[in-house]
Amino acid sequence: MSAQFAIQSLSLRKEFGKTVAVRGLNLEVPRGEVFGFLGPNGAGKTTSIKMFLGLVAPTSGNIRILGEEPAKTEIRSRLGFLPEHFRFHEWLTGQEFLTLHGRLYSIPSARLTARIEELLELVGLAEFRHKQLRTYSKGMLQRIGLAQALLNRPELVFLDEPTSGLDPVGRRLVRDIIRSLKTEGTTVFLNSHLLSEVEITCDRVAFIKFGEVLRVSSLSSLVDGETTLTARVHNLSPESLPGLSAWAKDIRLDGNTLHMVVLDEESLPAINRYLVESGAQVYAFSPQKMSLEDLFIQVVGMDGGL
Ligand code: ATP
Repeated sequence: MSAQFAIQSLSLRKEFGKTVAVRGLNLEVPRGEVFGFLGPNGAGKTTSIKMFLGLVAPTSGNIRILGEEPAKTEIRSRLGFLPEHFRFHEWLTGQEFLTLHGRLYSIPSARLTARIEELLELVGLAEFRHKQLRTYSKGMLQRIGLAQALLNRPELVFLDEPTSGLDPVGRRLVRDIIRSLKTEGTTVFLNSHLLSEVEITCDRVAFIKFGEVLRVSSLSSLVDGETTLTARVHNLSPESLPGLSAWAKDIRLDGNTLHMVVLDEESLPAINRYLVESGAQVYAFSPQKMSLEDLFIQVVGMDGGL
């Protein structure tokens, strides 16, 4: 296994008694990528992340994190982690909480003070630094958790549902932070059910179900991929439909609504012209790219998870 990868797992398996949480997970995440980990509830995402972090021992299989065994302290000091279900020391203030975690990383005092300052500003909590965590809202706890995950300037950071408690402004903030981490060369491993967020931030995604990787897709392939066209047309005769097959497939007329998958976006004007020349009145003409949600349903299926 090679150090050019931030994460490598081979035939990774975890059983909890009779429950197989992860069965044969194969994954390679190159350094510097923002990688999304998608799957229905109970697919084994959190268990996999805990194994990558060396917090849960695999039943079998191999893992390399930054080219090394995950449980090594030296490796852990180069990782960051925002857990999905965090429970922080609520009697500490935001600043004390970050100081505690910085000391656990053995960050020298002067450097830690400067880093905490920087991170409190970054996550928008500078004015709440002396308030106890018990007074923080869920969104504020998630922000301070994110600051904690970045204290040591990790080479690889795992964010497990980082935006679940955040309002739209908070989500935008996390998105911007992930972008700037990517610019700095940090690998970000993002577990999220918010597909619209994933679509904007990730380079590639893995779809997992029942503890296995079903598919890995690059998000640019969505942008370059198929376009579906829905048009509202009146007086289109069914005899005109075969003529559309020069530009499209899966052509279907449902009352006044025409559906098709367009082979090449460049043919959209020709399709429009053809419809008009066939005597139809076109009231709406809406080409759409496949969304990550469409792809998720296509790969994972409608039955979802647990
Ligand atoms: P979600 O999207 O709902 O957070 P997930 O994909 O993160 O789900 P996991 O939390 O990894 O899924 O759980 C995978 C399976 O393993 C589930 O069936 C879960 O009940 C089981 N499981 C996870 N942790 C344990 C544990 N400590 N003991 C027993 N079973 C567990």
